[in-house]
Amino acid sequence: HKYVYDFAEGNKELKDLLGGKGANLAEMTNLGLPVPPGFTITTEACKAYLATGREPDGLAAQIEAHLESLEREMGRRLGDPQDPLLVSVRSGAKFSMPGMMETVLNVGLNDRSVVGLSAQAGGNDRFAWDSYRRLIQMFGKTVCDVPGEEFEHALEEAKRAKGTKNDLDLDADDLRGLVDGYKKIFAEHTGREFPQEPREQLDLAIRAVFESWNAERAVVYRRQERIPADLGTAVNVVSMVFGNLGPDSGTGVAFTRDPASGAQGIYGDYLANAQGEDVVAGIRNTVPLQELEQLDKKSYDELLGFMARLEEHYKDLCDIEFTIERGKLWMLQTRVGKRTAAAAFVIAGQLVDEGLIDPDEALHRVNGAQLAQLMFPRFRLDHEFRPVAKGIGASPGAASGKVVFTSARAVELAAEGESVILVRRETNPDDLNGMIASKGILTSRGGKTSHAAVVARGMGKTCVSGADELDVNIPAKKFTVAGQTVNEGDIVSIDGTTGKVYLGEVPVMPSEVVQYFEGSLDPEHVDNALVRAVHRIMTHADAKRRLAVRTNADTGADAARARRFGAEGIGLCRTEHMFLGDRRELVERLILARTDDERQSALAALLPLQREDFVEIFREMDGLPVTVRLIDPPLHEFLPPLEQLAVNVAVAQERGEDVAKEEALLAAVRRMHEENPMLGLRGVRLGLVIPGLFAMQVRAIAEAAVAVTRDGAVAKPEIMVPLVGAVQELETVRAEAEKIIAEVVADSGVEVLIGTMIEVPRAALTAGEIAEAAQFFSFGTNDLTQMAWGFSRDDVEGAFFWRYLELGIFGISPFESIDRDGVGRLVRIAAEEGRAARPELKLGVCGEHGGDPDSVHFFHEVGLDYVSCSPFRVPVARLEAGRAVV
Ligand code: PEP
Ligand code: MG
Repeated sequence: HKYVYDFAEGNKELKDLLGGKGANLAEMTNLGLPVPPGFTITTEACKAYLATGREPDGLAAQIEAHLESLEREMGRRLGDPQDPLLVSVRSGAKFSMPGMMETVLNVGLNDRSVVGLSAQAGGNDRFAWDSYRRLIQMFGKTVCDVPGEEFEHALEEAKRAKGTKNDLDLDADDLRGLVDGYKKIFAEHTGREFPQEPREQLDLAIRAVFESWNAERAVVYRRQERIPADLGTAVNVVSMVFGNLGPDSGTGVAFTRDPASGAQGIYGDYLANAQGEDVVAGIRNTVPLQELEQLDKKSYDELLGFMARLEEHYKDLCDIEFTIERGKLWMLQTRVGKRTAAAAFVIAGQLVDEGLIDPDEALHRVNGAQLAQLMFPRFRLDHEFRPVAKGIGASPGAASGKVVFTSARAVELAAEGESVILVRRETNPDDLNGMIASKGILTSRGGKTSHAAVVARGMGKTCVSGADELDVNIPAKKFTVAGQTVNEGDIVSIDGTTGKVYLGEVPVMPSEVVQYFEGSLDPEHVDNALVRAVHRIMTHADAKRRLAVRTNADTGADAARARRFGAEGIGLCRTEHMFLGDRRELVERLILARTDDERQSALAALLPLQREDFVEIFREMDGLPVTVRLIDPPLHEFLPPLEQLAVNVAVAQERGEDVAKEEALLAAVRRMHEENPMLGLRGVRLGLVIPGLFAMQVRAIAEAAVAVTRDGAVAKPEIMVPLVGAVQELETVRAEAEKIIAEVVADSGVEVLIGTMIEVPRAALTAGEIAEAAQFFSFGTNDLTQMAWGFSRDDVEGAFFWRYLELGIFGISPFESIDRDGVGRLVRIAAEEGRAARPELKLGVCGEHGGDPDSVHFFHEVGLDYVSCSPFRVPVARLEAGRAVV
């Protein structure tokens, strides 16, 4: 088994094995860019370690061999007392997990090699001892679980003794003293001396990186980001280069385009005289990358050249970490960079213009989740609020909420349903749960690449970082800004695009992308790179997709909006929604009717109301198909709840009032009470039991279609019967419906289709028979999921799904994204057998899954004709249907 790869042996396609960092270091090495030499230990080795608790056979010898060849190449031996080679040991999983796992720098330093390092650095004792104390600190914390604060206190203490607040004022002697202190802390907490043997340091550091895969924060992050739990991390062993050797050294990050807006230009942060992790941690404030031109023009020009090459090579936005060691530029990392949703669209459009990618590839570069994000509202432009501070717009969006200062409090208040803004000086991986719970994140320190910024962008959360006018006092639970004090629970608003911070709740406005979909922004004439990019990509998706996209809408207004968003018909009009409000009383009359006459009169009163609803919808959907579903839920849903009614009756009786009517109602409610209403008298069963109910609805639909047609519009009604499990149910309803339709439609030219939902597992399994009686199927994946799993759709998500997600029984709720193997299999069977029986059978889906990106791909694969989703999801479904093709 080959567990170790030299950088020169890998390439960017080997991310599964070498992790993202290792694969890209290999790629840069092979491109001839200046990467410090090193090697990568594979994810396979990590998985073997995690499975057995020990290093797999052969790993130690392979590390030895690669270390020797690294030593030969560098002309130095690891930890050599005279002239030491030092290495960093870095995690690197297939998917980037910023700050989640461990890194140890300066491995190879000990009491003797620290002297050799000083000599290497031209007699720079201060640097050598600072490097050594950093090793003990990082090694102690990450490898041996020594509490990090212990080291921080000792450092603070050393600075206090020196009368300074700045690390850089500590001289070599101070740092030597600090190393002694650190070693004592180490020994106290671990019961052993700090290991002096370089190879032992290396092995322990590698093991710690393996183990960090299962650190709690990494587990939480993976769950949030839906990264599989069994990938393992690779480990990169890289020769150290130093950005902290003096003012001609430094470290930074660079982006080949703006990861927030997608704009072309030079973006990044630089920190002189600092070591790599200082930038990402946001511990000191960085300067914009452009300032490097004044500090070190040669390195700056070289870096710009490398950035251009990497973009050409990866054909995408790259982000880069680099270090300059005494005027020599080293490339420490690159990858195809994370970006905001807006930047994803803008960059994809630009890359097509530049001829780097084709329009199909542009579709791969964006996704429906990003589009959905861009449809969120933003702060209105005309509000009267004045910003009290301006930080860095680190992750766009508009968020308002109550201020909290700790992760725990954020989780607590969010659980009570509050919107919260997590305010910190800077965040670190321990804040992850609080960040997930918050609407937005506000920090007083750190740049666009700080932990807060990177993680928030990844989550699609609004974030303002580095708002340094804020004086944040965590223990006192307050911050002050512009002479005002803001306490926990006060409301602030943050704008993740402009970086502005407001006190109070700023009003919001719809997004430009929504305005474009609404038709109020013309993409050809608007000076808005995002709107133009979205337009372009949507146009391409529409040209490519095979799936049609319809909408679930029950009102004319929803239908009209969905149509502007690109809906090509209605896939589900839930008629029960038309039985609410003022009409409830009519429904009550229907339910309570004791004679045929009473029932007929109640139905006759409902008929014109239903007809009006359908007229409005057919008008809005002129020329497009409209699937109207006959009433589905149990009728008692339209009656008052049993307990309340019983109490009312008892109270009224007590007062001696006339309660005859209430008693009749109560008796009806009692009669209709069901233990499992979702599996009871609903859907087609109601139609078969309550005479005249479906007939009234069918008549209203047909009459509305005829009326609209007479006015010159084109109505294409499709009547859908819910909850069918046996073909006989459908046949019975259909026979009655066809008679009414024939009578109403006569020679008006209106054509009415009759079909069924497939939402009971038995319907899916007998789809061949059912298709004989149905002109179309629409999959009701909500009920199909409920009945296939036996999960009550109204109860389980809050009750126990968290545990199922935690255990990995599924990675996402099956009510949110289609369960391909189970529920999906039922869909596949029904589609195949239905089509075999009736080749022209129209197939669609109208459950919530119709607007879920992954599910849309599945429905494309199984050959449905359309998906139907809520109006706001229509653009998302159009995009994903296009992406499913390319
Ligand atoms: C379904 O079950 O998927 C469906 C669309 O119907 P409803 O959600 O109204 O039960
Ligand atoms: Mg249903």
